[in-house]
Amino acid sequence: MATTLAVAAQAQPPARHWAIVLHGGAGVIERASMNPETEAAYRASLTQATQAAAKILDRGGSSVDAVEAAIQILEDDPLFNAGRGAVFTAEGKNELDAAIMDGANLKAGAVAGVTRTRHPISLARAVMEKSPHVMLIGAGADAFAASVGLEQVDPSFFFTERRWQSLVKQLQKEGRPIPPRPAGAPPPPLVPVAEIESPDAHKFGTVGVVALDREGNIAAGTSTGGTQAKRWGRVGDSPIIGAGTYASNQSCALSATGTGEYFIRLTVAREVCALVQYKGLTLQQAADQIIHKELESLHGDGGLIAITPDGQLAWSFNTPGMFRAKLTEGGKLQIGIYNDEP
Ligand code: ASP
Repeated sequence: MATTLAVAAQAQPPARHWAIVLHGGAGVIERASMNPETEAAYRASLTQATQAAAKILDRGGSSVDAVEAAIQILEDDPLFNAGRGAVFTAEGKNELDAAIMDGANLKAGAVAGVTRTRHPISLARAVMEKSPHVMLIGAGADAFAASVGLEQVDPSFFFTERRWQSLVKQLQKEGRPIPPRPAGAPPPPLVPVAEIESPDAHKFGTVGVVALDREGNIAAGTSTGGTQAKRWGRVGDSPIIGAGTYASNQSCALSATGTGEYFIRLTVAREVCALVQYKGLTLQQAADQIIHKELESLHGDGGLIAITPDGQLAWSFNTPGMFRAKLTEGGKLQIGIYNDEP
């Protein structure tokens, strides 16, 4: 009996363990500005999204499927700056960006300035799988989404009161004009603004997921409304392959969050993976070098999550907080918000 078992164990390659890392944005996220209910809501959302990805990976699903499923949940959750709950542009619009990349074949899809597609991450995936292109923008991207049957919504679907109030507050502070309340938005609430105003954390909330599946393939995805009060069709790092999103089985899969302009200039995602690929750094060393040395030297702010095909998991950020979670097959779910947590 013992001999038979030993032979069987030899014949089968060791089963690979799946793993996931998630972020829900980095920024000035501090205990003092977070009430217990809000904090619990964030933790519950991160748990739900992680579990959705875990379920897919556990039944042998692909890392790309896991990334898309978890991001869809976060896009629908008004707590996060992605899909419903996205921040507003200075003109009072929600313009959404997303990207996804498959580390197994370096295929990638990205969209920017989308206003009608419920799940920008699924649109990014459709660009990757159903178009000859890598990146589509604006009305054309939404038209492509409709043509492949992705759910289209009225732009007011993405409206949330607290993001609107947050925009108004910022524009007032900066002495900039306040745009009219968007068409289709619910009537303004009767409660004073102070009571529905969110902590500063709510300015943040880009979402990103990286995953490793049982086949040993890694993938990365990011979805965001960008930065609050952005203008002129501004696009950040999230949908830019190699800046905010990247995946290659040769090195790592990564999703970033923070002030996108710095992440674009540093090509953060590719840079971290290149350090792993060519310099032999561990994933954590590479991530910390880019965040704590390169990003800081430009006075940039933000963070990232990353994973390698051999199962290294990392996060790194230079802000007071980053919503984050990680889980490895057979392990315990780890969630963090503040920078004094492991
Ligand atoms: N990186 C995103 C952007 O610049 C924003 C964020 O992650 O908070 O669009």
